[in-house]
Amino acid sequence: MKSVFNIEGLVRENVKKLKPYSSARDEFKDFKKDMIFLDANENPFNNGVNRYPDPQQRDLKSVLAEQRRVSATQILLGNGSDEVLDLLFRAFCEPKVDNVITLPPTYGMYKVLADINAVENREVLLTSDFQINIDEILNTIDERTKLLFICSPNNPTGNSMHVEDIEKLLHNFNGLIILDEAYIDFSKQQSWLNRLDDFPNLIITQTLSKAYGMAGIRLGICYASKEIIDVLNKIKPPYNINELTHQKALEKVLDKNLVSKEIKSILIEKGKLLKVLLQIKFISKVYSSDSNFVLVKVDDATKRYNQLIEKGIVVRNRTTQPLCKNTLRFTVGTHEENKALVKALKEIS
Ligand SMILES: *Cc1c(COP(=O)(O)O)cnc(C)c1O
Repeated sequence: MKSVFNIEGLVRENVKKLKPYSSARDEFKDFKKDMIFLDANENPFNNGVNRYPDPQQRDLKSVLAEQRRVSATQILLGNGSDEVLDLLFRAFCEPKVDNVITLPPTYGMYKVLADINAVENREVLLTSDFQINIDEILNTIDERTKLLFICSPNNPTGNSMHVEDIEKLLHNFNGLIILDEAYIDFSKQQSWLNRLDDFPNLIITQTLSKAYGMAGIRLGICYASKEIIDVLNKIKPPYNINELTHQKALEKVLDKNLVSKEIKSILIEKGKLLKVLLQIKFISKVYSSDSNFVLVKVDDATKRYNQLIEKGIVVRNRTTQPLCKNTLRFTVGTHEENKALVKALKEIS
């Protein structure tokens, strides 16, 4: 079914024609040089942030490129993954004409972004064991299907998708597959990053919001072919990553030991939590988790959610999500926080 992949054929006409905004920092790039900068109407008094930031975040990208063994030209950074995902809609999906496919139960932003961009969202439910329903997806794809969102490990279910299924879709779909790896650093499975060059239609998104502990700075990362990244660069806001975020992110990605120490500790805590959860009477199922959260099935999710709130603990009630009736999602916290959760669960049991 698949012909030769052609990125040009996927880009919206207006984006193809558009001449991108050219900022002062685009026109004179060597702004680290000791020069007098009178080109951007900035305030000249130095306070650390009086200058516009690097529109291409070259320092951070070069570290990421080296660590992940990709080229810096295969990276785009966004104000959270959410901005990256939004750029994908705006670059590739013609409002009211094109469609995308999402696989509920999954991350809610894909659908919200489709709605914001007036793009039809075709939902293909996961199977009962939260895996990809390949046949149904292949039946749903048509010539206007531009994007397919796969979240692995998936939020809120916590599991990873089968590698062979993703492979099959990459081989059989002529649009773009966005593989959301927000939780990949907690997973036993390998990232798809080392296979990026094998698939011209693969886009991988990651984030500093979860394993890297930096949800507050808003830094999302998109990895794809240079051709795809070029298209996104054309339409991104010129200074979408602010200087403070750039500096904080750089510090953190360079501190690999701290990051892996925290991940290890969260995974150990998850292991302990999984065992104890099984002993709680009203929890009938603890789903296996490849991430930093655990989905459980309970007798009455809304009742248990409210009881936990009364005990001062906020979890996520996922009962309204398809295939997730009476489920709660627990983020793995610190040792003390998890102990408090277990204590509360026992008390209301
Ligand atoms: C938390 C999360 C993200 C992160 O989004 P940011 O905008 O980078 O904070 C992305 N995808 C999924 C599935 C998530 O759960």
